[in-house]
Amino acid sequence: MREQAALSSFGAARPAVLEDAHGRTIRYLRVSVTDRCNLRCRYCRDGKTPFIPHENILRFEEIEELIAVAVGFGVHKVRFTGGEPFARKGFLDFLGRVHRRFPELGLKLTTNGTLMGDALEELKSLGAAVNLSLDSLNRRRFAAITGRDLLPAVLGNMRRMLDLGIPLKINAVAMKGVNDGEVFDLASLALDWPVDVRFIEFMPMGAGSVWSNSLFWPAADILAAVRSRWELEPCGLRQGTVPGVCAEELGPARLWKLKERSGRLSAGSFGLVTSVTRSFCRSCNRLRLTACGHLRTCLFDDREYALREALRRLGPEAAARIMAAAVKRKPVGAELLARRHGPVAQKPMSAIGG
Ligand code: SAM
Repeated sequence: MREQAALSSFGAARPAVLEDAHGRTIRYLRVSVTDRCNLRCRYCRDGKTPFIPHENILRFEEIEELIAVAVGFGVHKVRFTGGEPFARKGFLDFLGRVHRRFPELGLKLTTNGTLMGDALEELKSLGAAVNLSLDSLNRRRFAAITGRDLLPAVLGNMRRMLDLGIPLKINAVAMKGVNDGEVFDLASLALDWPVDVRFIEFMPMGAGSVWSNSLFWPAADILAAVRSRWELEPCGLRQGTVPGVCAEELGPARLWKLKERSGRLSAGSFGLVTSVTRSFCRSCNRLRLTACGHLRTCLFDDREYALREALRRLGPEAAARIMAAAVKRKPVGAELLARRHGPVAQKPMSAIGG
């Protein structure tokens, strides 16, 4: 659903920062650079949602203009996602341009790690931090989940990123009966390597979602499983925050160090992103831009605001005003989740940008 209502607040004064009606200030923009991906994860892509026609995909220069608008409002962190960002031709050059134009901006990427082999040195020099999606360390299971036998490529790139010292987080979508048997193997990656291994609760996204109660593996159960193997030490203090509680820089994950029997603490950490069972919506500071240039203020809210059209027809000032008006209508996603009868959003994650 596209929302044109925000256009009616066109005349309103433009605020200095993006603050919503719940007192939340927006500092973080997630940009989907494409809805295409070389993997076919069944939980992410429904196989029915058509790809966005080429002419409707935001051009890189347009993304840059919209980032400039967001930065003008005090946004200081941008994450590029998709689809698969490295599936879009010219993505790395674009990233370099963004870095040169906004050197203060924290650059983050979410990727499946299969297509980035040639980009790693450049990513390091740009200071980019990477979230790597990795649901299984078992080659067969990885192929079954993603539809592609590409685990060796992902692991190779993961090791090279660690060697280069690229800040790395690993995200695994937790699915009961699918990868729950791998919780120790996945968490063990954090023992010797400085990575945050985060289990993300499977969200009921998309009208054709394969999500079901039987696949859902709640964070509390994951935590109990990990506690059966290791003692856990909250590591929020590492970031200067309250132990176990998220802060803006930490993101929505609760993180712990794994303590081995010898007393040795893990180099990295184990984390939980409790998107379903314990929302972090009250501290949400993000906006999303879809690959076709629609602004979404909440993953769970189907209202979208047509920034591309505004930018093309009227220019960046119009886009800025729509952004500000849209933020005023940003909902508390957890309330939408609590009221849901079926999927919490009509589009699958691949079409929104995860
Ligand atoms: N292709 C990139 C990747 O694989 O990281 C970026 C896009 S992908 C949509 C971003 C993230 O969304 C992935 O970590 C994926 O596992 C996650 N994701 C997709 N659908 C999800 C769902 N229903 N619940 C939780 N996470 C989901």
